[in-house]
Amino acid sequence: MNRSELLASIKKNPSVSVLVVGAGINGIGTFRDLVLNGVDVLIVDRGDFCSGASAASSHMAHGGIRYLENGEFRLVREAVGERNRMIQNAPHLVKPLPTTVPMFKHFSGLLNAPLKFLGWLDKPSERGSVVIKLGLMMYDAYTGKNRIVPRHKFRGRTDSLTRWPRLNSNIVSTAEYFDGLIRNPERLALEILLDGEADGGRALNYVSVVGGEDGHVTLRDELTGAIFNVRPKLVINAAGPWIDAANASLGQSTRFIGGTKGSHLVLNHPELRQAIGDNEFFFENKDGRIVLIFPLFDKVLVGTSDIKIDNPDEVRCTEEEVDYFIGMVSRVFPDIKVGREHIVFRFTGVRPLASSLAKSTAQFSRDHEIQVISGELTGLDYPVYSLVGGKWTSFRAFSEQVADKALNFFSLERKKNTEYLAVGGGRNYPRTPEDEKRLLDRLKAWAGLSELRARTLFDRYGTRAEAMSEFFTHQADAPLKSLPEYSRREIAYLAQNEKVIHLDDLLLRRSMLAMLGQLTRPAVEELAQVAGDALGWSEAQKQAEVMRALELLATRHAVRL
Ligand SMILES: Cc1cc2nc3c(=O)[nH]c(=O)nc-3n(C[C@H](O)[C@H](O)[C@H](O)COP(=O)(O)OP(=O)(O)OC[C@H]3O[C@@H](n4cnc5c(N)ncnc54)[C@H](O)[C@@H]3O)c2cc1C
Repeated sequence: MNRSELLASIKKNPSVSVLVVGAGINGIGTFRDLVLNGVDVLIVDRGDFCSGASAASSHMAHGGIRYLENGEFRLVREAVGERNRMIQNAPHLVKPLPTTVPMFKHFSGLLNAPLKFLGWLDKPSERGSVVIKLGLMMYDAYTGKNRIVPRHKFRGRTDSLTRWPRLNSNIVSTAEYFDGLIRNPERLALEILLDGEADGGRALNYVSVVGGEDGHVTLRDELTGAIFNVRPKLVINAAGPWIDAANASLGQSTRFIGGTKGSHLVLNHPELRQAIGDNEFFFENKDGRIVLIFPLFDKVLVGTSDIKIDNPDEVRCTEEEVDYFIGMVSRVFPDIKVGREHIVFRFTGVRPLASSLAKSTAQFSRDHEIQVISGELTGLDYPVYSLVGGKWTSFRAFSEQVADKALNFFSLERKKNTEYLAVGGGRNYPRTPEDEKRLLDRLKAWAGLSELRARTLFDRYGTRAEAMSEFFTHQADAPLKSLPEYSRREIAYLAQNEKVIHLDDLLLRRSMLAMLGQLTRPAVEELAQVAGDALGWSEAQKQAEVMRALELLATRHAVRL
């Protein structure tokens, strides 16, 4: 069903068992799980899918070693397990990530940890190697027998400087352990959503919840302004940092969220990229804030900040944050010069954390919870479950908990679970070099692709490259003039099959083009032509999409004009 058919069907029959408000990773995960268990679900997002907090993450599938210090053992144990499952279920998009922690002190933090457990310390501070060692031992223990990634190890100063010659020579040691790198979180979320749709769920981007009373919720189509109602039996509010605002639209006054802002830079810096190799560097500055520097394809991702904010609509990456990040890189790699000229992209988002009275943002809980507003209390005919907090990494477990609660509400038994369920292009993923070669040979044979092109598509889309190459056979293909590593049919496939509404959906979320600084004005124009032709846009619409995209991308530093 295309978008207008879907809208028409909802208007004709507005009844739905579950309405999920917000298609970030938590809404999408819940959508997939409920649909898989036979529930009739509609998910809507006021913007594109995965365009809120879930598009602002540090790209780490991680247990969160530092949350141990806040006593969040349950969360870390759960997240370590989920990290392993993500690597197994979405191997095309989540890869093991060797992580190095440079340490400048042996003992700092040793005293802080118990003080923080007791809530007596309000300022975070840099952890020393002894605290990191204890944390990593627990981290390894949580992986248990299901060892997807190797155990941690420590290196002394000399050994560390031999391994990492550009590292600050003031270090006392380094620790090495493994986490996961989510190469493209936006694609991962979209593929989970498409899986849910393939199983019968209904999903609409650019549709907002704007009101609700008695038995209905009022929605607005953001493309046309049309207002219409749905009649759900249960509402799941997965609006992330906007949860309280979405509840307010439903006439409910809540204060569940106390968000903190985090920003990142993407740098085009071959020298720094070479210095880090394929490793993440994960460390703390002197006041204990986490800094990460890591390889994102041929670029370097640097982040992140953690600043309490009140209005999630007003966040942006400030010049002070840029200065801070640049300073942090030079703390670890002092003889590598980084400047604003290396930035190709910047992005910011708000962590939808539970509102907290903790004295520092680092102590705000990263755990997740379901807040229930029952129908009797509110005068609404349906209860509202608000999904507060939650890491990208632990989305599957959180979604499962929400789905279980919803199934219980409907007195339904769970029939299927998602623990070992492969995602999108991770389905039938080749696990041996022989299987991979067979898949590449098939791609080459079907669509007449070169070895390089078949490999590129497989790297980008996993086994979804098979459906894509089948699509290539229907019409002649050619590389884009402005971006020869992409082809016209590839872009047309994404536009037609991945729920692209605006050009920026394609540039920012279906592909890594914006984030990796690959866009120029001619590229944006050519992409608008190709995607526009695939979607039936008029010339005026293509122009409007180019202007919209350029304006948006300028705020992210993403287009080389
Ligand atoms: C800077 C930063 C770094 C992070 N790094 C990591 C990391 O490395 N690893 C990790 O595991 N986690 C990380 N996280 C945490 C993780 O990204 C978030 O907790 C998670 O993405 C939250 O997802 P969500 O679905 O709850 O919210 P969101 O992704 O924000 O989704 C909410 C959606 O609701 C929509 N919406 C809002 N109002 C309405 C309405 N009225 N009607 C319809 N739709 C509406 C929004 O458009 C949005 O798309 C990070 C978060 C941030 C901000």
